Formats: sequence, C-alpha cells, structure tokens
Amino acid sequence: MQETKLLKAVDVLVVGAGNAALCAALSAREAGASVCVLERAPREESGGNTRFTAGAMRVCYSGLDDLKRLMPDLSKEEIDRSEFGSYTEENFFDDMFRVTQFRTDPEHVATLVTKSFETLNWMREKGVRFAPIYGRQAFKIDGKFKFWGGLTIETVGGGPGLVDRLTAAALKAGIEIHYGARAVELLLDGVTVSGVKVRMGATLHDIRAKAVVLASGGFQANPEMRTRYLGPGWELAKVRGTRFNTGDGIRMAMSVGAANAGNWSGCHSVGWDRSAPEFGDLAVGDAFQKHSYPFGIMVNADGRRFVDEGADFRNYTYAKYGGIILEQPQQFAWQIFDQKVTKLLRDEYRIRQVTKVTADSLTELAQKLEGVNAKEFLRTIDEYNAAVQTHIAFNPNEKDGRGTVGLAVPKSNWANRLDQPPFEAYAVTCGITFTFGGLRVNGDAQVLDEDFEPIKNLFAAGELVGGIFYFNYPGGTGLTSGAVFGRIAGRSAGRAAAHTAAAVEKCTSVK
Ligand SMILES: Cc1cc2nc3c(=O)[nH]c(=O)nc-3n(C[C@H](O)[C@H](O)[C@H](O)COP(=O)(O)OP(=O)(O)OC[C@H]3O[C@@H](n4cnc5c(N)ncnc54)[C@H](O)[C@@H]3O)c2cc1C
Repeated sequence: MQETKLLKAVDVLVVGAGNAALCAALSAREAGASVCVLERAPREESGGNTRFTAGAMRVCYSGLDDLKRLMPDLSKEEIDRSEFGSYTEENFFDDMFRVTQFRTDPEHVATLVTKSFETLNWMREKGVRFAPIYGRQAFKIDGKFKFWGGLTIETVGGGPGLVDRLTAAALKAGIEIHYGARAVELLLDGVTVSGVKVRMGATLHDIRAKAVVLASGGFQANPEMRTRYLGPGWELAKVRGTRFNTGDGIRMAMSVGAANAGNWSGCHSVGWDRSAPEFGDLAVGDAFQKHSYPFGIMVNADGRRFVDEGADFRNYTYAKYGGIILEQPQQFAWQIFDQKVTKLLRDEYRIRQVTKVTADSLTELAQKLEGVNAKEFLRTIDEYNAAVQTHIAFNPNEKDGRGTVGLAVPKSNWANRLDQPPFEAYAVTCGITFTFGGLRVNGDAQVLDEDFEPIKNLFAAGELVGGIFYFNYPGGTGLTSGAVFGRIAGRSAGRAAAHTAAAVEKCTSVK
C-alpha cells in the first residue's frame, strides 16, 4: 500500500481499524464525509481483536431464503447436506437477556437484534463474504449437518478475511488509513470535540476533524486496568487477542467528561492453553482456546471438578468459564476426555502448540496431570463415573439431559463415563478476550457526558462501549455488535460533520 501523508483536517476521524472502526469509516463515507482511519498497530498486526477471530457472526434469519441473501454462493450440495433451521429475533433477544441476566441495555439490544440481518447484508454489499460455519457449530447426524447454538455463519477467511475485505472496501471508497498512528488525546474547542492528537513514532500531530469515532477496543491488554477494574488476579490472565487494546479510547473520552456504563468488573474470558504466550499470536489465531469441555470434565489442582461443564451449549458458557478457571488454585485446569468423544473435539485440539498428555489408564493419567492431586483426581473420577445417567441417550446436537445425579457439582448434559482409554487431557488457564465496561452512548452512538448529554461530535462503537454485555455473552455477538453500532456511529458522525460544515458556511456567509 502507498504511504499517504497525514492530513491536517478531515470530516470524520476514526480511531482503530478493527471491525467496528472499518464499518464506521465505510458508513461515514457513505454519508458523504471525507474519512481518515488511525490504527495504532503496524499494518501486519492491524485489525485488532477482529483479526484474531474465526469470524463467527450471530445474525437473525428466518430460513434458507435469508441465508441465501447473505451467502449467494451457497451451493445445492451445501443446501442438501444441511439443516440450517432459523434464528429468530425472539431467539436472539432471549439469548441476550438470559446470558446477561437481564442487565443488557434494552435499547441497545433491540438495535443489535433488529439490525443484525440488514447490517450483515450491507457488509456483503461492501465486499465481505460469508459461509456456513460447518467446522464448529454443526454436527453431522444421519448424513446431515445440523446447526446448533444460534450460530450459523462465519466470514470467509475468518478474522483476517474480514479485516482484509473491509480494508479493501475502505481504500476503494477513498478512505485514508494510517498505520502506526496512536491516538493519545482528544482535541477540544470549548466542550466540542474537534480532532485528535496522534503519536506516530516519536512525533505528535494534531488532526482536526468535524467528528471523531472511537472504536479502539477495550482495556483487556492493560494488566494494571484489568487488576483495577476486574479485580486482583486478573493481571495473571493471558490476552487472547491484540496487545494494542489498552483502553486508550475509554481513557481519552473519560478525560473529556464521558460517562461510563456497564459491567466494569466483567469480561469475556475462556479456557485457553496454559502455555500460550502473554498476548495473542496471529499465526495461531483463536486455536489456543479449548472449547470441547462439554464432552468431558475439568479438574483443578485439587483434583476436583468445579463447574458444570454441560450446563448449556458451549457458546452460552465458554465466555464465563475462563474467569472461573482463573479463580482455581494456581489458575489452571485440565480437561479430560476418553476415546468415546475424542472424535468430537474441535480442530483447536489438534494444533502443534498444545499442552496435552495421553495415558492408557486413569492411574497413569493421574500421574501425568502436572500440578494435580492424583489421589483426589481418582476419587473424583470414581464419583463422577458412578453418577452418570447412562440410560439417557447421548446427543451432541441437543441439550440431551444426560446428566449426573447426586454430585455436589453436577454435569447437566452430555455426561459420559470416562472409561475408554487412551485418555487425553489438555491443560488450560484463563484467556481474556475483551472487557465489558466502557463508554456510555445513546442510540445514535453519541458518547454521553456525565449528565447524559451528548458530547458534541464524539461517537463510539465496538468493544469500548459499555452496557451491552454483562457476566456472559452469546458466541458470535462481538462482531455483529461492532458492525451494527459501527455502522450507526459512522452514519451519525457523517451527519454531524455535514451539519458542522453547513453551520460554518452559514456563519461565514452571514459575516
Ligand atoms: C481469539 C479471539 C477470537 C474471537 N472470536 C470471535 C468470533 O468468532 N466472533 C465474534 O463475534 N467475536 C469474536 N471475538 C471477539 C471480537 O474479536 C471482538 O468483539 C471484536 O473484534 C471487537 O471489534 P472492535 O472493532 O471493537 O475492536 P478491535 O477489532 O480490537 O479493534 C480495535 C482497534 O483499535 C486499535 N487501537 C487501539 N488503541 C488505539 C489508539 N490509541 N489509536 C489508534 N488505534 C488504536 C487497535 O489496534 C485495533 O485496530 C474474538 C476475540 C478473540 C480475541
């Protein structure tokens, strides 16, 4: 890509170059604004957490016809071998309210749900491509793939494909993108936002803008903020994604009086390979995650189970189980499977960079589980095996009710005795994905001040907005949320810029 000279002034300045930011930039451009994007990361690491994703996106659809609009390339063969079902607005509302324990902001959630389909369709028009998410959200039963958990599509090329397509669309639309450009401060004219101070290498620049959109992610890559807001111990979590989301946007906005909202002590966090590096590794992407625990059990250093692995489909539990693993002694757990279920394990269990042991007997396995009380582990297995309700049929596509009876920590679905060697075990710790607390915005994505009045010309979208997710999260919603609210933020910023330009013109002609 050609290096462009940094502008001194632009209509809309977007901070960040992930999914929310690029959707905002495209939408502001559509509204007629000149647009410049500032990305803190170098080009090869650009795209924030979005680049690390598999590109799963939660969207409402009433059946095959809707899916064909999003995926016009869907082949007859794919249609014949799939049972796509539907995912209604009611389903999406129910999932959001249930997993957030009815805390999610009703206005925001209504926007998220009702605009999900039209927004993905808009992304498709911009060049993003979607495909059925066969690998992870569908099991083949009687020759047909059946989708479960309300998650049916992913972007072609996963997160990198999404970032590349949105970036290409932005460049084609004449949007300037500057890499290695870190926004450090909002510029103000009185109480109106009028631009951004940017650091590029060792130099600071002021860029004036008629509107600014902040889409620079949460504070998950900032151990000090994690400890301050999520609580002691959270500095020990591994960061699943980008190292660049250190809360800059939140800090900049709050320092000009923005109000905060949402679940500041909450975050999305998962079971993540115990030996994974401190931050995400783009060569591995999301494959350090270990999400097939509903088909096995998890034990801690005491050799004890500590959570209902089969409480629900994995995409309604995985985002809160990371935090529960962090609470265990020494912040780790082992996931245990036997040969009855290893064929169901997701692809991420077969990567080279995996902390895994195998054993031909449970006593051998007990010796191999590093850091685990072997005697207690064997007792746990005995109790667990005796408690499985084997008369109920196992079915991975449904909440099958094949649970345990009489255990202090029950397993509600997909319980199988661990009795068929060789056994496999995988060590996990807590990997943090993104933080839930953030800026308070209204329905037009305007950032509000502490009196809940809009801060003039300041907008926000994506991870750094608070009030949408609490306690937990339905898989595939982060990208949809970034796209829906990013598009709204861009449109609002484009309009604000046009309004400011008209006001300046009027003022000049009166003089
Ligand atoms: C491993 C992993 C897998 C995931 N899988 C999925 C999935 O399949 N589906 C799903 O819906 N969600 C998934 N998520 C969550 C999803 O990534 C986020 O919800 C979403 O990408 C957030 O988008 P965003 O645009 O708000 O932030 P990001 O994509 O993180 O973008 C933030 C941008 O801001 C930039 N930035 C930060 N500070 C500054 C600054 N001061 N100046 C300029 N730029 C700055 C960053 O470099 C980055 O480009 C996953 C996350 C991870 C980590």
